[in-house]
Amino acid sequence: MTAREGSLEAPTRHPIDWRNPDFFDTEKAFAEMERVFDICHGCRRCVSLCNAFPTLFDLVDEGKTGEIDGVDKQDYWKVVDQCYLCDVCYMTKCPYVPPHPWNLDFPHLMLRGKAIQFRQGTPTKFRDTTLASTDRNGTLAGIPVVVKVVNALNRSPGFRKVLEDRLGVHKDAWVPDFTSKQFRRTAAGSAQHPVRDGERTPGKVAVFSTCYVNYNEPGIGHDLLKVLDHNRIPYVLVEKEACCGMPKLELGDLEGVAELKARNIPKLAALARAGYAILAPIPSCGLMFKQEIPLMFPEDADVKAVQDAMFDPFEYLVARNKDGLLATDFKEGLGNVSYHVACHLRVQNVGQKTREMLSMVPDTSVHTVERCSGHAGTWGVKKEYHATAMKIGRPVFRQMAEHPAGETRWVASDCQLAGHHIAQGMQGKADGKLAHPITLLRTAYGLPD
Ligand code: SF4
Ligand code: SF4
Repeated sequence: MTAREGSLEAPTRHPIDWRNPDFFDTEKAFAEMERVFDICHGCRRCVSLCNAFPTLFDLVDEGKTGEIDGVDKQDYWKVVDQCYLCDVCYMTKCPYVPPHPWNLDFPHLMLRGKAIQFRQGTPTKFRDTTLASTDRNGTLAGIPVVVKVVNALNRSPGFRKVLEDRLGVHKDAWVPDFTSKQFRRTAAGSAQHPVRDGERTPGKVAVFSTCYVNYNEPGIGHDLLKVLDHNRIPYVLVEKEACCGMPKLELGDLEGVAELKARNIPKLAALARAGYAILAPIPSCGLMFKQEIPLMFPEDADVKAVQDAMFDPFEYLVARNKDGLLATDFKEGLGNVSYHVACHLRVQNVGQKTREMLSMVPDTSVHTVERCSGHAGTWGVKKEYHATAMKIGRPVFRQMAEHPAGETRWVASDCQLAGHHIAQGMQGKADGKLAHPITLLRTAYGLPD
């Protein structure tokens, strides 16, 4: 079959066929990997994106034939292990995605490989599932007496070495503090603002707080509520929310994703149908509801309702501005901001709304860096991947430190985990202080901490 280079039509994405037994058939998955890897080896566009592609190309180049047929199929797992499902190759690089007849979806093929590995069990399964249990970890570690011990231990080099040896969490990787003042327990109730629907934006918001904001950095959630209140937007918190499922998806634990989906979607769908915009302040969580869960459950009307109501906070605020309903009474310039566009926001195809919003603040210069930081959820803290995560992030660390207007005052990423990873990589290179973009917006409005 001859096929033209690239596709002129808009990319589409097939549902994830995870309920078909063939999805978990290793030989069938290997056959698809062989087909796709052969195309990738001839293309090589993605060589600089992550370590999955260099691993693949090295395997082929150093194999017996110099072609994909010279690679031992068991070595395909080495490629799968290097993918952290950022989706950037699919969404921004690959010309062979559907509807192109080559029908290539590299990330979801890697997801299939991870799902097979997860079912079969891997030597690191205990460590991986422990890291992915964000709800359970946050609940246990957030118990008032326990939290101090956990945070102190996480800062102790001796304990971190033990953690590395026993659990495989790299001793130098940044790990978050936990809090006993969880966001959902301490969030301020909404004022009784009248609902003002705009052409593009519902006038009331439901906040999906996310595990990270709830258990680790509640200040981001409080800042989001202050920004909403300043804009006279009434809000509610999503009741009894569970993890979005992204950490389990990254492991290939698709049954685990389905269990969390069953807990979250009915409540979220009711809010969507009641006319709320749903905001998630961590891009990976938003992406789960906008893309991955809909592709796992394409026939589910509740999932579709949630998908349509889900906004990134800055996507919502910029649309609110276009509706003429956003407050622009900024009190404080932000100076030089080095801003990193998180991959899981980039692939939502909503444009650079955070940059757009922060650039509206007077006396503010936003330097945008659009490249993978390498953190990738729980992947970058694992012992075997942390060095690679730092290497992938190196160009980002350098660019973030080089604000063209001079000294960097603020370092920001939509993904706060990536932000911490970047701040770690920038140590000694620049003085900028890490703050989430929503915190910067709260600061620009002159709202108290
Ligand atoms: S999804 Fe991201 S990590 Fe995975 S192969 Fe593509 S670019 Fe690399
Ligand atoms: S995923 Fe697509 S663009 Fe990337 S190397 Fe493979 S064929 Fe090329």
